[in-house]
Amino acid sequence: MTEKIPFAHPYIGREEEEAVLRVLRSGWLTTGKESLAFEEEFGNFLKKGNIVKSDEGPFCMAVNSATSGLHLALEAAGIKEGDLVLLPSMTFTATAEVVRYLGAEVVFVDVIKDGFHMDPLALERTLERLSSGLCAYNNGNEGEGFGPKGNAKAIIPVHYGGLVREMEAILALSKKYKLKVIEDAAHSFPSFLPDKNKKESGHWAGDIGDAGVFSFYATKTISTGEGGMVITRNREIAERVKIMRSHGIDRSIWSRYTDNKASWYYEVLEPGFKYNIPDILSAIGRVQLERADDLLSMRQTIASAYDDAFSNDEHFSIPPTGDGDARHLYPLLLNLNKLTVSRNEFAAMIQEEGIGVSVHYIPLHIQPYYKKRYSLNEMDFEQTFKTYNRCLSLPIWPGMKEGQIEKIIRVVKNLAIKYNKNL
Ligand SMILES: *Cc1c(COP(=O)(O)O)cnc(C)c1O
Repeated sequence: MTEKIPFAHPYIGREEEEAVLRVLRSGWLTTGKESLAFEEEFGNFLKKGNIVKSDEGPFCMAVNSATSGLHLALEAAGIKEGDLVLLPSMTFTATAEVVRYLGAEVVFVDVIKDGFHMDPLALERTLERLSSGLCAYNNGNEGEGFGPKGNAKAIIPVHYGGLVREMEAILALSKKYKLKVIEDAAHSFPSFLPDKNKKESGHWAGDIGDAGVFSFYATKTISTGEGGMVITRNREIAERVKIMRSHGIDRSIWSRYTDNKASWYYEVLEPGFKYNIPDILSAIGRVQLERADDLLSMRQTIASAYDDAFSNDEHFSIPPTGDGDARHLYPLLLNLNKLTVSRNEFAAMIQEEGIGVSVHYIPLHIQPYYKKRYSLNEMDFEQTFKTYNRCLSLPIWPGMKEGQIEKIIRVVKNLAIKYNKNL
């Protein structure tokens, strides 16, 4: 039996085990001082170094998942029933479902050609249609088109794979059309986007728009098993998220037990949600946060080995990356015109060699729910559908051995040669 290489694997050590035991033995399992410390240390991480000049970091609110965080951030940004929220079809369903939680409508936007990120030109075309009272999508005829129409209120850009792209153009459009920007930063802790003009300054992913949300799901760049963090510099959004993540109650559970006020007294301001993170998980998060830079550099090492192997191979294309990117995924685009096999066949053959691969993402516009709700066809988002048919994600987890990286490269390149169209 050859050794299997999984697609993803968490990086957990003795320190995480000890942190969990510390909490289990403390007598306080739910949200409390570990979670407060996690938020504070997360904020310090975002302040550290010379990259963010201001002493003021963003507000950081830990939650039980990025999905909860996105829901809270949109709610706090004022998204309501009937509003329109624009987002790429090339994403995980969580990005869109939270829009539906609020009764708002999802408007999909195509990705850039040969890429994974929302195309600002496609975004602008959609916004122009909506602001002239037309439906979001053009069916080639003169009429009003099809899909949702109404008031666009927010954009959710997704930093796919930890790669931060097109944000300047997206921000410019958000200003022009007065839209909130909630970043789906699930993949991008920690991704840094340097300023075009001043290299020493810039922004962390998640700290570019009105709010951003990171995920600490099992496979993400740092993990608490399940968990997430909302960040924002907008005090009103922060206050609202804090209240709504714990039932719409005006005092956190922890403060009820530590304040001078009677511990049983609280006021319910809204029918909120139960999205708080338990201390058991925050304790793991604090350790993972300390590892974040090491984990990043381990992923960067793997990514550059792949870049060297695949960037000059005619069978593959890879999306452009920046130095500050978190490299959560390693997406490979197959040049199908050079191969005799489909992406599905190619992926299956890699898996037969004991290497886990994945596809990010099956576009949302071809998923039954969204397809039916908005009457969508595969080619309505042509670039998204084309990228989907040729993309493949390779394993990129900290702790992978050099031999494993070499094996993956060898297997993938040899399969491409074996199924080369011209042979
Ligand atoms: C993982 C993921 C989410 C959701 O994260 P959870 O913490 O699992 O809720 C949202 N968006 C994207 C793009 C993701 O990959």
